[in-house]
Order: sequence, then C-alpha cells, then structure tokens
Amino acid sequence: MELIARVEPLTLTRAVRGPFDYRLGPDQPGIGVGSLVRIPFGRSRTVGVVVELVDRSELPLDRLAEPEEVLPGSVPADLVSLARWMADEYCSTPARALALVLAPGARKGRRPRKNRTPRRAAKSYRIGSAPVAPPPLTEAQRTALEPILAAVRERHVRRFLLHGVTGSGKTEVYLRAVSEALGRGRGAIVLVPEIAMTPQALGRFTARFGETIAVLHSGLTDAARRDEWLRLSRGEARVCVGPRSAVFAPLKDIGLIVVDEEHEASYKHEGDPRYDARSVAAKRAQDHGAVLVLGSATPRPESIHNLVKLRLPERIDCRALPPVELLDMRGLNHPLHPQTRAALAELERAGGKAIILLNRRGWSNFLSCRSCGRVWMCPNCEVALVLHRVGDAPGFVACHHCGHRETSPSVCGACGSSTVARHGAGTERIEHELREAIGDRDFPVLRLDADSAGLDRRASTLELFSSAPAGLLIGTQMVAKGHDFADVTLGIVLDADQTLRFPDFRAEERTFSLITQLAGRAGRGHGGGRVLVQTLAPDARSIVFAAGHDADGFLAGELRRREVLGYPPFSSLIRVVFSAPAAADAQAAASALRERIAPPESDVLGPAPLFALRGRARSQVVVKARARAAAIEEIGQAVQSLARERRGSAVSVSVDVDPV
Ligand code: ADP
Ligand code: ZN
Ligand code: ZN
Repeated sequence: MELIARVEPLTLTRAVRGPFDYRLGPDQPGIGVGSLVRIPFGRSRTVGVVVELVDRSELPLDRLAEPEEVLPGSVPADLVSLARWMADEYCSTPARALALVLAPGARKGRRPRKNRTPRRAAKSYRIGSAPVAPPPLTEAQRTALEPILAAVRERHVRRFLLHGVTGSGKTEVYLRAVSEALGRGRGAIVLVPEIAMTPQALGRFTARFGETIAVLHSGLTDAARRDEWLRLSRGEARVCVGPRSAVFAPLKDIGLIVVDEEHEASYKHEGDPRYDARSVAAKRAQDHGAVLVLGSATPRPESIHNLVKLRLPERIDCRALPPVELLDMRGLNHPLHPQTRAALAELERAGGKAIILLNRRGWSNFLSCRSCGRVWMCPNCEVALVLHRVGDAPGFVACHHCGHRETSPSVCGACGSSTVARHGAGTERIEHELREAIGDRDFPVLRLDADSAGLDRRASTLELFSSAPAGLLIGTQMVAKGHDFADVTLGIVLDADQTLRFPDFRAEERTFSLITQLAGRAGRGHGGGRVLVQTLAPDARSIVFAAGHDADGFLAGELRRREVLGYPPFSSLIRVVFSAPAAADAQAAASALRERIAPPESDVLGPAPLFALRGRARSQVVVKARARAAAIEEIGQAVQSLARERRGSAVSVSVDVDPV
C-alpha cells in the first residue's frame, strides 16, 4: 500500500486551491501530519505542510511527485487542524492560516543553528525567578474561582466570563486557575493585550511560575521566539503568556486558556486571516478539553450573552471606585475645562499623580485655510493630515493611515493665503501646554502614544511614571490599559465623545469601556481618587452609565439595542472589501459579489464606496448573517471564484468575519 501525503503549499494567492497529493517513497519515513516539506510545484518548487496522510489519490500514482526534502520545524497536528478550521472560519486560505501556526522562522525553510542551547529570552520582562507564595483569596475571589477549578479538575469544556471591576483581583484568579492546570499535569495559555503595556501582570505570572513560563511578544527576535516556541513544544515550559498570537503556542495538553482584558480590540488580527484570538481560543479550548476564562471590567456584549458569568463586584479591600464628574464642554473654547485646570493646579500644589486620556494623537487633528476653507489632505488617502510638532519647530503633517509626511504648510496651495487654522488639540499639544503650565523636575509631564516611540520606550515611560513621586501621564487609549499604579488620584478624559463619533455599531461600547478603564486607573491606593470626564455629549448613554460605574445597566441596554438592530451577538457580520487603483473597478467587483450571493437569513448591504487608502479606491459589501456558517461558506466560495476569474487584475479583496 502506497502512502500519500496531502500537502498544502505555503503560497499566498487565493487562486491556488490545495491540498495537493504527493507520493511518499520508502526512503521518506517520519513524514506525518504537520511535517514541513520541500516539494516540486508546477515548474518550480516550494515549501508546504502535510495536512493529511491517505492511502489513495484521485490521480494515478505515477503522476504524483515525491517531496524532495523534509525540513525541520514540524507543526503539531492539532495546530494543523486548527489552521484548517481558521481558513474556513475567516474565509482565508489554508496556506495563510498555516503560516500563523508554524514555528517562528520555519516557513523560510531555514535550518536552525546546530546544538544551540536554548537561550533564556525575553529577559527584560521577566521579574524574579523564585516562585512567590500566593496571598490568601478574598471571599469573592474564592467564589469566582470555585467553578473554574471544578471545570479544570473535571476536564469540562466550559467558557467563563470573569466580570470584575477594575482592581478586583482578577489576576489572582487567573494565577490560581493556572496552578490548578499545572497541578493536573496540563498546560495553560494566558493572552494579554500587549506585553509592553502590561509588565505588571506579566511580572506576577513570572514571579509565581518562574521557569515554567514562556513569554512570546513582538519585541523578540525570530531566534528568541523560536527558542520560546521550542521550550513549549518540548514541554520545558507549560505556561505561555503573550499577545494574541500566543493562542498558537505549541503546548501538548492545554487545560486552561485565559484571555485578560477580553474587550481589547488588539485580539483581532488585522492581516489575512483576520482571526479573532478570543474565538480561536474558544475553539482551541474545545479541541483540548480545556477551560476558557475571559476576563474584563468592561466585557463585550457578545461575552455577556454567550458565557457563564462570574463576578468580582468590588475592589480588593473594598476600596471605593472613584466618583466620576461629567464636565460639559459645550460653548467652551479651551481644550481644558476650568474645573480640569483647577484640579490639575491643585494636584501640582498638593502632590499626586494624574492620568489624562485623549484619544487623538498629534498636535492638531487637521489644518484648514482660513480664506478658502481647503483642508490639507493626504495625497494617497481620503483623510486629513494631522499636524505633529517636535519642540518649538514648525513640525510636519502626517497621514495616520499610510505614513505620508510633508513639512507643515505655511501657504495655501489653492488660494495663496498664509493663514492656516489648526483644529482639534491632540496629545502633543496638551502635553506641551501642561508642561509649560505646571510641569517641572518634581512634577514630570509624560506622554504615551503611538508616536512616543517603540515598545521599550513605552515600557520605560510607564516605569518613569510609576517611580516618580508625582506627575502627569497623558496619552491615547494606551494610558487606560490595565496599569496598577497605587498613587494615581486623578483621572481625566478629554473629549470623551470622540470615540462616539465613529460610524460604527461598537462606538458606544468602546466609549463606555475607555471611560471605565481610565476611571479604573484612579484611586487604587489609600488616597482615594476622582475622575473628570470632559464631553460635548453629557447625556450620551455610554457616558452616563460609565460615570455611574454601571456596567450591568449599560450592557443590558446595549444588548437590547443590538437585538433590535440585528447586530452581533444576534447576527454575525462579514465584511468584504475590494480595492483597486480605479474606483470603478473596485465598485464593479463589489457589485459582482453582491449579485452572486444570497445567504439564508441574511441581509446583504452594499456595494458601498469607502474612502480611499494608500492610493487605492475601495468598495465594500457587508453581510449581516443569522446563519453564520452557511454565509461564511457561500461568501468564501464566491470570493474565491471571483479571484480566479479576475486573476491578474488590479483588484484585490479582503474578507473580514466579525470585523472590529
Ligand atoms: P484587576 O486585574 O481585577 O484590575 P488586580 O489583579 O490588578 O485587579 O488586583 C488589584 C490589586 O489587588 C493588585 O495590587 C493585587 O496584587 C491585589 N490583590 C489581588 N488579590 C489579592 C488578595 N487576595 N489579597 C491581597 N491583595 C490582592
Ligand atoms: Zn486657501
Ligand atoms: Zn495617507
């Protein structure tokens, strides 16, 4: 009996439909599901992954080629099947999905250097090595933990939502659950939004579990990632902590998967396949007979609707959540409300720390000509350019989509006027003004956003703020992430309705979550705290509920609204975007798709033009599907046949299932 390997070539084009059969010769033992092989492919050769072993092919044996070589870096079989599931679930291709689960660096078919002892990687984020004894649990923690431990013990596939207010001790619950899995000889994965932004949480894991932990994060080199990957696959490390891609950690037997801050948008991958690490975690937990725990102070309506709820209703030590005051900005010109200024002046006088959230980076949001009204736009995208300044220099304008930059304009190209108006203060300008007004050596004013440099700088800004006796931290949503600074007494949100203005059904959820999370940074210590929220929409539902710390009220209303409108979790959204240099081509492709699909129990919306990006016009079709699997399959097939028919055309397509 001949043995045949079904191989998925790691090519990126959608038009190739694998897998392809290869004959295994007698001199090729040791090939199994997950083996990485070099194969002849058409007139060239490529690298592929064996996805199945079978004993017959539809083609005659003598027409099948043999793999040329087995490469190092095979993928565990469970990850191969996870990748095939992802390819279907996210309307992608098996090759693209497999590329995500390969060992770091493996796809290039490189051989690792010989006899290398695994280096300890990720040093900078490891704190201590001796395991630390856990604190006794509070009553609430014990109650929440009970069903999780029971499920881990009994190998039940269960999905929990740990809904605990900020500072309620969720991490300790995760730690105990991980201990239980380890104690049963199983492994655990802990997903965090971004390692550099959550050094404290990570520190607590490494302190508790020491060498059993492998940390994967984007700051690592390929070689270091590979070392961590190998430690996991050999069972030397049994807990993996990392951002969304850590969901693919090559652990053999997973007993628990934790997703911390489950509301974070960073769990969604923006490349193809556009997977959602929360859904992949659920699938992987199911495959391994593992328990899934999603945790947040501001859970998604989807999670409230679908998961078993566990509550931590109070902060540790019963510290009160800080009172939130809404400051009405209507009719005011200055970006800071008089009460905000007073509170900051008082803080500087009395000493203390404040965090200021403004979800808008740069100096000014956009520039316009005072004479003719022209707005400075990106030449490649249909969006306004944002003014950035460095010190007192005139600065530059930049596109936040494509990275285009030019020097800051002084004359209008349309009418010749030299009066340029700046609109919408961003983080740079607020930082500058506060530094001038109250900053000094004993009261540093620090900024944290995507422009304030890379991961290491971000981590060190947080460290600086943490160790300073007093000061201000101003920044975008990054400052609202799960930091635990005991001495922050004042939280401030500027332009709280900025996120509400996005034309997105998740705008309210995001606004509620940002305000609540920022409030969660304040008053964690004995000094108590207060929160000021500047807004033009003091009556907006999300803002009012956030001010009242009423997550249940907000979520109940949000679920009712979504049910009426037929949005997730009461349907699934699938978004298909076509792009091309010419708007007509993108629109024609979108129309062609629209005509071919009619999934059951679905609304098909579009085609609708979107604003152009990077010199490409875009057009989209959105499907609101109540029969998810059927819609995904139908759309996937239609997109693939379109891609085949239009092979070589300038139109490209991306499919996003559950877009965020
Ligand atoms: P959350 O993740 O829910 O925002 P944390 O896990 O950061 O909350 O916990 C808040 C603080 O309480 C942390 O400083 C943590 O060390 C502390 N803590 C957690 N559990 C306990 C406990 N059982 N006893 C004493 N302190 C605790
Ligand atoms: Zn002009
Ligand atoms: Zn641009």
